[in-house]
Amino acid sequence: MPYYGIVGSVVYNMNKTEKTEDKMSKIVSFAKRKGFVFPSSEIYGGFAGVYDFGPLGVELENNLKAQWWRRMVHDRDDIVGLDSSISMSPRIWEASGHTTGFSDPLAECKECNTRIRVDKVLESIGVFADEKMSEEEINKLFDDNKDKIKCPSCGKQDFTDARKFNLLVKSNLGDFSGDMSDPAYLRGETCQGIYVNFKNVVDSMRMKLPFGIAQIGKAFRNEISPRQFIFRGREFEQMEMQYFTEPADEMKEYEKLKEYRWNAILELGIDEKNLRWKQHENLVFYAKDAWDIEYNYPWGFDEMEGVHARGNYDLTAHSKGCGKPQEYHNQETGEKFIPHIIESSGGVGRLLFAILCDAYTEDELGGESRVFMKFKPSIAPVKAAVFPLLKNKPDLVKKAREVYVDLKKDVPQIMWDDNGNVGKRYRRQDEIGTPFCITVDFDTLEDEAVTVRDRDTGEQQRMAISELSEYIKNSIK
Ligand code: ATP
Repeated sequence: MPYYGIVGSVVYNMNKTEKTEDKMSKIVSFAKRKGFVFPSSEIYGGFAGVYDFGPLGVELENNLKAQWWRRMVHDRDDIVGLDSSISMSPRIWEASGHTTGFSDPLAECKECNTRIRVDKVLESIGVFADEKMSEEEINKLFDDNKDKIKCPSCGKQDFTDARKFNLLVKSNLGDFSGDMSDPAYLRGETCQGIYVNFKNVVDSMRMKLPFGIAQIGKAFRNEISPRQFIFRGREFEQMEMQYFTEPADEMKEYEKLKEYRWNAILELGIDEKNLRWKQHENLVFYAKDAWDIEYNYPWGFDEMEGVHARGNYDLTAHSKGCGKPQEYHNQETGEKFIPHIIESSGGVGRLLFAILCDAYTEDELGGESRVFMKFKPSIAPVKAAVFPLLKNKPDLVKKAREVYVDLKKDVPQIMWDDNGNVGKRYRRQDEIGTPFCITVDFDTLEDEAVTVRDRDTGEQQRMAISELSEYIKNSIK
């Protein structure tokens, strides 16, 4: 996997290839130009590692989150939802091991002070390394390969030793010391909020093993070099589901969850050849097994979501941390034990990025080249655009407006467009991935029918206004 480092607003790719650069920059500029993703605080020169989702980005994001929630909560009798707080007792992060162990190896260029994440740089030159290695292990590999590693900013080869840098983001919430000596942390992952509510959920919902708790929410990490667009940010959103099992059932449930998540991702319309499973080579001591679903991003396959079997580590850690056993009481057998956990954990941004890459299509239609987003209709941010053939004909505009207002009641994600000629409107809607364009013309005033044009084929069909809503609703399921 190549490595991108961001210094200011410059992106460096240590294994730069034309193709990588090309696809990456096309997606990044498309996303900004069309209102999907904006760099944060841009008018103030930007803020590294943080992005804003624009009007179309937020619709796409909401569609992805809704599909996840549907599959992970509403379709399942054995999974319930949760929305835990972002700030929690600092003791949670001590018990989970994050205050001591949640770190990445950082080194600094002695010439220009650019920081690099050493495990990722080593990986980019084909040396296996990861953030779980000790400082000694990583420094040994770093020393052995220093002659192959250049500073992405100034090109010099003179670095400090790697040291572990903690990723938790501190805040002064409830800390009036004035010197941040009693910090609260912004959550580094959403699942800790699930673990600490395990007993609340069992007691309030009478859940029986096996069962899961799902949550979508923001997480924060002081990433050393946020990079690769929204792939690695300092503020991002996670969709996590923790599934609690009898110890003996953990691996059986794990295989089921892997298959379930794979199918749920395929359902979003991602081309299967751009997805693959990758098993972790270096498991943490408590994990039973860990696989990632990787997507073929512009720089190659990389982690989009993880499905992990975590044993009973998490609830054991919190039992010790709070001094109260986080056990499950089997009412039938009378047995009390700490359940094992399997999890699926994915980032909204990484999924959205994969969807943008996958949908980005360049083709020719009617002899003209075009760029369009081939979103599956169910996740397209705009499902249909409605327009009057001509915007200076009040009768047409009035009728088109009626069609638009009526359809919006059933399909809220639609757009009104009367700018330029119809051909230009088609191109504009294709570009943002709108599956259907609906034109109200002079015949409509007589026959109560409209022209519906398909994004992918360009084909047009005449349809009665009375059938429009059902047709669109069925097509976007
Ligand atoms: P990586 O190895 O890429 O740093 P990770 O293994 O640390 O990721 P997890 O802690 O397992 O990631 O987090 C679960 C999911 O959250 C990841 O699969 C990814 O989709 C998302 N995620 C993690 N870190 C980030 C980040 N900095 N920016 C965006 N998404 C992230």
